[in-house]
Amino acid sequence: MGRSIGYRCPSCGHEHMSNRGVGFLFPKVYLETAEKAKAGVLGEEIRKFFENHPDGAINAEKVTLCCDSCGNLMEGQDLSMHVPNENYNRGVGTQVPEGSQYFMEDDLEEDFTKFADYPHKCIKCGGSMHVVRSDENLFCPECGTPMEIDPDSLMMWD
Ligand SMILES: [Zn+2]
Ligand SMILES: [Zn+2]
Repeated sequence: MGRSIGYRCPSCGHEHMSNRGVGFLFPKVYLETAEKAKAGVLGEEIRKFFENHPDGAINAEKVTLCCDSCGNLMEGQDLSMHVPNENYNRGVGTQVPEGSQYFMEDDLEEDFTKFADYPHKCIKCGGSMHVVRSDENLFCPECGTPMEIDPDSLMMWD
């Protein structure tokens, strides 16, 4: 289940819609994302990661990204890279064909250890972006004023 939150700047009126979580299409999204990652479409770092860790996993959940340099906000995917830990029990009890497993954030927390964050780059200034935590305040990319959550905008999507 995913969540949309609309943010609005009380000063200049700039709006940003933030989408978080996973929907029912998640398995498809995960597999497509992993495929792109392995093919190098998402950059060298993540391609090398899968080359060196064929049993690795990525976080394909939707997140909001914030530029550390210019404050630009962007919707994207977390894409952090994870390697199996001692809880990970490879394929036991599941009949999932090789290469079609997918992992949600809960799986990653339990059965994996974070290997690296994805180096998100800002499309505006090229600066590095971080994944906005759910309790983090957003600031208006236009004028720097703390953004307010528009209560009418809260929406669940699947
Ligand atoms: Zn503003
Ligand atoms: Zn930027």
